[in-house]
Amino acid sequence: MKIVVDRSRCTANGFCEAIAPQHFSLNEDGELTVLNEDVSPADQAQVEDAVSSCPAAALRLDKS
Ligand code: SF4
Repeated sequence: MKIVVDRSRCTANGFCEAIAPQHFSLNEDGELTVLNEDVSPADQAQVEDAVSSCPAAALRLDKS
C-alpha cells in the first residue's frame, strides 16, 4: 500500500503530519514531503486516518 499525494490540491495545513508524522513532513515553505510512501500493516490505520482527515482531498492510498 502506497501513499499518493496530489500536490496541486495540498493547502499545507499540516493535518496529515500531525496525525502520522512518521510518514508526512511539511517544511517551513509549506512543501509536503512523504517520508515513507510504503505503509506497513502496523501504520495502516494511522495513515488511513491522515488520508481521510485531509480537508483538501489531496491524499489517497494506492492499494494495488
Ligand atoms: S492534510 Fe492534506 S492539505 Fe494538509 S498538508 Fe496534508 S496533504 Fe496537504
